[in-house]
Amino acid sequence: MSAIAEAIDAGTLPGRVWMYADYHCNLACTYCLTESAPGVSKRLLDPDEMIRIAREAAELGYRDIGITGGEPFLLRHLPETLAAVSEYLPTLVLTNGTLFNETRLAELAPLARLPVALQISLDSPDPDVNDEMRGPDNFATVIDAIPRLRDLGITVRIATTGEPDRLDEDDHARLCALHRELGVPDEDHIVRPIVRRGRAADVGLGQDFAPEQIPAELCISVDGAFWSPFGPTVRGGELDTDLLISRTTAPLSRPANLLLRLIQGRLPGDAAAIGIR
Ligand code: SF4
Repeated sequence: MSAIAEAIDAGTLPGRVWMYADYHCNLACTYCLTESAPGVSKRLLDPDEMIRIAREAAELGYRDIGITGGEPFLLRHLPETLAAVSEYLPTLVLTNGTLFNETRLAELAPLARLPVALQISLDSPDPDVNDEMRGPDNFATVIDAIPRLRDLGITVRIATTGEPDRLDEDDHARLCALHRELGVPDEDHIVRPIVRRGRAADVGLGQDFAPEQIPAELCISVDGAFWSPFGPTVRGGELDTDLLISRTTAPLSRPANLLLRLIQGRLPGDAAAIGIR
């Protein structure tokens, strides 16, 4: 058994490897950590590289894969790449849920038989409040997409991002009633704070977190390997490198072992409270 697999078994090292598939997006949310928008630098991870990372992650003893961006479903190859990646490990994809037209849904249908789940952002039970941060008609589009995906048999999770004072008890209860109505169970709904990086920092939103508060999840982007998917964020068009572990990502064992060395001696789990899933 590899040192990585032993650390994952012991709970010292998180069992997920993240990948940034891209950085461009059809939306431009107010709190976006990566300053994503239609015209930004795409910073694409090659699909073969994504499959290689998944294969090596499985060999090292990791337990699952997370794919984020940008908006991953802007990439035409994504359904096919997800099928290949999920041959190695169960895969969670973070998406804004706004690109699922009939053509895209037909391409996604085969994923229903595979260990692939989609995590869609929905920030409020009130369309106006949700759309204020995420853009016009976002609420309606997402509410339309979730049942269509579920009808295909695809697992859908919902992620709610916001300032602590933005979602009071009543909002939270209405949001939970809504996701249950859409067929998403409580265990597949997560609520997470805004992290003060990227565009959120520009507009003074979110909270600052020390590295020890962020789970040490290995995250690979085209620019290198990072401590956590909160690592390869973008500010003023420039990549943040404060959580960069290594520019080398192949073989995956290299950044994985570097990360393991960095966390040895740290308290596992308890101090690492902030996650994006
Ligand atoms: S938060 Fe997500 S959906 Fe919004 S602009 Fe950024 S990448 Fe796109």
